[in-house]
Amino acid sequence: MKTQKFFYFKSFVFFLTLLIALVPTDATAQKKNKKKKKDAQEEVQKPKKDEKSIQELTKGSTKLEGLFTIYQDTVNGSIQMVIKEDQIGKEYIYFSQVGNGVLEASSFKGSYQGSKIFKINKYFDRLEFEEVNTAFYFDPNNPLSKAKDANISNAILESLKIESYDKKNGLYLVKSDDLFKKETFLQVKPPRFPNQPPTAFSLGNLDKDKTKIKEIRNYPENTNVLTEYVYSQPSVLNGGSEAVTDGRNVSVQLYQTFLEMPDDGYEVRYDDPRVGYFTDEVNDQTATGSITYRDMIHRWRLFKKDPNAALSKPVKPITWWIENTTPMEWRETIKEGVLEWNKAFEKAGFKNAMVVEIQPDTATWDAGDIRYNVLRWTSSPQPPFGGYGPSFSNPRTGELLGADIMLEYVHFTNRVFYDKLFDLGASSSEQQLEASDMPQFYCSAGHLMHENTMFGECFLEAVGASDLEMERMKKEAMKSLIMHEVGHTLGLNHNMKASQIYSIEQLQDTEFIKGKALTGSVMDYTAINLTKDRTKQGQYYDMSVGPYDIWAIQFGYTPFKTAAEKMALLDQSTKPELIFGNDADDMRSPGKAIDPRVNVGDLSSDAIQYAINIYDLTNDMMGNLKLQFSEKGQSYQDLRRAYYLLSGQRSNAGDVISRYIGGVYVDRAMIGQEGGTQPYTPVSLEDQKRAMNALSKYIFAPDA
Ligand SMILES: [Zn+2]
Repeated sequence: MKTQKFFYFKSFVFFLTLLIALVPTDATAQKKNKKKKKDAQEEVQKPKKDEKSIQELTKGSTKLEGLFTIYQDTVNGSIQMVIKEDQIGKEYIYFSQVGNGVLEASSFKGSYQGSKIFKINKYFDRLEFEEVNTAFYFDPNNPLSKAKDANISNAILESLKIESYDKKNGLYLVKSDDLFKKETFLQVKPPRFPNQPPTAFSLGNLDKDKTKIKEIRNYPENTNVLTEYVYSQPSVLNGGSEAVTDGRNVSVQLYQTFLEMPDDGYEVRYDDPRVGYFTDEVNDQTATGSITYRDMIHRWRLFKKDPNAALSKPVKPITWWIENTTPMEWRETIKEGVLEWNKAFEKAGFKNAMVVEIQPDTATWDAGDIRYNVLRWTSSPQPPFGGYGPSFSNPRTGELLGADIMLEYVHFTNRVFYDKLFDLGASSSEQQLEASDMPQFYCSAGHLMHENTMFGECFLEAVGASDLEMERMKKEAMKSLIMHEVGHTLGLNHNMKASQIYSIEQLQDTEFIKGKALTGSVMDYTAINLTKDRTKQGQYYDMSVGPYDIWAIQFGYTPFKTAAEKMALLDQSTKPELIFGNDADDMRSPGKAIDPRVNVGDLSSDAIQYAINIYDLTNDMMGNLKLQFSEKGQSYQDLRRAYYLLSGQRSNAGDVISRYIGGVYVDRAMIGQEGGTQPYTPVSLEDQKRAMNALSKYIFAPDA
């Protein structure tokens, strides 16, 4: 996010320079405008009897009642909005989600654009929409809190003229097209980055005439508007991919929602570095200690129906809807994946916290309706992910208010995304992108799962496994992916260290691993569990949530009676099965982070040996590849795919091994915590040498 802010600043300086350059030539025009404005002001000040009532101004409009009542003109589609007097000065939540878009415009269907707080102020004859800064906390009892606005800029997003005032009912009417047809609340068009080549694809300017409001849905708790933004330019050098019909006119559809603040009664829970939750970040400006974070974790509002029972159903469960576009054969597995989390919630005191329903074919709502959490399917020309589990929160409290899960159909097929041999490292460059620039909910789990599953298929094909076995592996992959994405929507971020908890022997012990997660957490990106010795093959993927997941849900959702109770739970973090390290610590790309145990695509407490086993496995397969994947009369496509997959696995195994050389283990335990070690411990000389030897044998040797 930091790079983005920097960019905006740079572009601001640039535009300022541009503005100064333009002033002299524009001076005359400005004078004329001023005169016009003056006339307009005089018009406003005409005697009151000429003022039109709300009724008169909305004649010929359709009335849509809801949180903010909207009138839409039946002739030209323009909209006016009613704001009640008691809504002035109150805080509301703004949330937006892409209804449809193209990857070139950094907008893909279903992607969440975050939430923010705004309020409406009255300024003479205008109503202002102001975004409120929620990044700082001042203790109200501290006199410093009187200076809480110092050097913090709120943002005036829009100022609209009051068209009419109904004094009797306390209602204001404003023309509200600009709220939704301009980029008032959200910058939709991505900025142009300084290092982009001049031939890079870019959107034209927002076209006022072509941009339109497509749909308005108004409910007592929220007002939801779907806008199609159209960006036009007369000519383009780069017309974009095939998904862009004509680069001169590109559409992005955006759902924008104004939501009422949820009721009081939600209990804020603060972040702890030993557990991985997404947060709304807040700094305490009146704190005197060296740590000023008051980051609030993202969690759903769950209350026990029976507060005194150790285990109770929630007053309102977290309900998931399987979209009616979901292929029939996947529905049951998806449901299983969601409900698996109930095992974790039971340990936090809730029975049936998660509920799954299927969207009826006759449903009148769709996934753009924020009142529904939907498991969705798409088949995009350029899939940005295999699965994506975004959610949005109240920035004031961290309370989760809505979530979706997007699944890309193509990731459950056999299409290989490597176009060129030298793109074999493509997955790692994607991971680098994820770590640095992408929003926090971006997740590569689906992409990696796809690679692993195709590799698994290739392997099973090579060993002559049955169709049934193939089917089992795919179902396990799907369940595992669903559990991962659902975990995100419950507030959890990744745990890339969890793969350390079981030994290779335990993973290969069919009975031991049965029904478990392969690691401490389904929030890891784990390698597929394959064994060369087919008699030892257990499950391929996670079949349930792991011990870390259960513990993390206990931290986030248990209705703790005392602070000590919560502390006692957190103090268990040093247990080996609760090991945790997230994206901030992972070594997925060279030069990033220091603890080799926090990595993607690794498995077992001996990741070096596991990676060596992958080399042995793939080397064996490589020898027979030509024979096994060439069928007379068929194209070379399957052989090529198999070769790429094997090479991809080897490249990943090499990455995993290499990180142990010069690696430093990190312990997040607090000072004096039972079971804690020192914060930093170098990888043993023995393991570093083992890693170096493996690299020289499997990568650098002439016969490697
Ligand atoms: Zn993820």
